[in-house]
Amino acid sequence: MNHCSFCGKSEKQVKILLNGPKGNICESCVALAYDMVREHGLLPDQTIEESFDIDLSRVPKPKEIKAFLDEYVIGQDEAKKTLAVAVYNHYKRLAQKHDDNDVEIEKSNIIMVGATGTGKTLLARTIARLLKVPFAIADATVFTEAGYVGEDVESILTRLLQAADYDVPAAERGIVFIDEIDKIARKSDNPSITRDVSGEGVQQSLLKLLEGSIVNVAPKGGRKHPEQDFIHVDTKNILFICGGAFDGIERKIAQRLNTQVVGFTSVANTHKIDRNNIMRYIMPPDLKSFGLIPELIGRLPVLTHLEPLDKQALTAILREPKNSILKQYEKLFEMDGVKLTFATDALNFIVDKAVEYKLGARGLRSIVEAIMVEPMFEQPSRKTRKFEITLAFAKQQLAKSNLEI
Ligand code: ADP
Repeated sequence: MNHCSFCGKSEKQVKILLNGPKGNICESCVALAYDMVREHGLLPDQTIEESFDIDLSRVPKPKEIKAFLDEYVIGQDEAKKTLAVAVYNHYKRLAQKHDDNDVEIEKSNIIMVGATGTGKTLLARTIARLLKVPFAIADATVFTEAGYVGEDVESILTRLLQAADYDVPAAERGIVFIDEIDKIARKSDNPSITRDVSGEGVQQSLLKLLEGSIVNVAPKGGRKHPEQDFIHVDTKNILFICGGAFDGIERKIAQRLNTQVVGFTSVANTHKIDRNNIMRYIMPPDLKSFGLIPELIGRLPVLTHLEPLDKQALTAILREPKNSILKQYEKLFEMDGVKLTFATDALNFIVDKAVEYKLGARGLRSIVEAIMVEPMFEQPSRKTRKFEITLAFAKQQLAKSNLEI
């Protein structure tokens, strides 16, 4: 029986076995060889690079990207600007023609720090709407070190491949959003993390992806399908955006600022520190104090923060975005021919409750949902064509729900 001269598999174990005069090669080894040739830029005419030509004049400019984000996300101007620039630069990198003397633009992966429910995922999702590149969202909490129950870090790339319809060159230019990156912080520096199989090992494996390397990706994900052939994905051009709440990092920032204040009194005097929003002073060393390894921080050079949402912002979130929570309910009622309105004091009550629950804008939806269940059940069978949510009604409904325990 014939065998692959490279990996030794028999012709029964492979799908294709090319026969040469003195040896044979199977499809997996051909794929591997192809990747190596491409990696060295030796493909005839670099056909793959050319087929993905990006016309920079048709890519939205940073200001246009921000304007688009403004339609869906309230506030967070700094984060929006940073993201807009990073995404635009990502396109520039992709548009760059490679000749040897050219300056190579390095990729700028991003890390967004901000309390839960302030819009990190929303920003990433909104970016995805605008983009013409494949996009995948993953949650860092599911990652464990290879060999343990849970997902390997590489599974992110499986998702990206799925988003790209298994078009590998397209996936290799995609964007990945990794949420809850703070949950893989090293345990010793962060006593609030109690999971064992996590921490530094996961950060190390993530590092490989962020750095840019050829990664073997299981097309369907997971180790449950050991028979599947791996796809080789080069992560060099994939833009990674990480987000996390980093609960308690304010203390680390304050500690650093305090030490600085002792050391450099004049600095402290000229820059008056805004104690209500310590997060705005976040710097890479704070991420290290929190338990991220320096190598990982180094691979996430763009650091931006999200502001906590005050009452005014929360009210705006209820009403203003293109698909705001209120607009969605109004639409639901409109489809039954009913005009739904919310009294101003009822809205203030909803916002106060969201502040009380400390869930950011995430709380708004659960509160409004709790208030709306009853009317959504009753109204379609009624004859009336109007429904107003008054303060008394909102209070009564919320008291009935299990949010108020
Ligand atoms: P995070 O990822 O920061 O925990 P999300 O982006 O998932 O928070 O926000 C949860 C929900 O809250 C979103 O689906 C959105 O409806 C709302 N939301 C949060 N922040 C904003 C914002 N700045 N503008 C508009 N809506 C927001």
